[in-house]
Amino acid sequence: MDYFSSHISDLVEQLSSLPGIGSKTAQRLAFFIISQPEEKAKRLAASIVAARTNVRYCKCCCTLTDAEICPICSNPKRDKSTIMVVETPRDLAAYEKTGKYEGVYHVLHGAISPMLGIGPDDIRLKELMTRLSSGDVQEVIIATNSSLEGETTAMYISRLVKPTGIRTTRIASGVPVGGDLENIDEVTLLRALDGRVVL
Ligand code: ZN
Repeated sequence: MDYFSSHISDLVEQLSSLPGIGSKTAQRLAFFIISQPEEKAKRLAASIVAARTNVRYCKCCCTLTDAEICPICSNPKRDKSTIMVVETPRDLAAYEKTGKYEGVYHVLHGAISPMLGIGPDDIRLKELMTRLSSGDVQEVIIATNSSLEGETTAMYISRLVKPTGIRTTRIASGVPVGGDLENIDEVTLLRALDGRVVL
């Protein structure tokens, strides 16, 4: 990489550290960015910094948002008695895209994985339990992925929630095993939601 300027090498290195970006793609992106008007590159850099600086976790559901409370939690039309538990904000977005779910969410930001050393304290479970202690929640829909980690997390949550007497359901198996929610079409997502089973 020494035949490039060190600035280009640095940019390529930064880009290739992003998920799903190999060194070839990183090079292509770097050269594209450099070929653009300077103003465009500055806007890209500024929006990265602005997003990183201003985006935070919703105080209620832990999703990423610009405000203290996200638009879903602060929407009076949403049914606060139903909480769907998802692994990531991308999973939340997948269900939002269906436009059919009227409850609210709780974003864990990960799943329990003994293999990766991710335990219950490393995801936003404590925050979920605090929400459930308010007494307003009637159903917790566990919509973690159907991977080993997702299933482990679902089991853990159901055991945690059971003593509270709150109805706990798991989305149905319309979601393929190992499938990430964000890659699944809307019809399948809705079918999985409609066919949820009580744990
Ligand atoms: Zn929220």
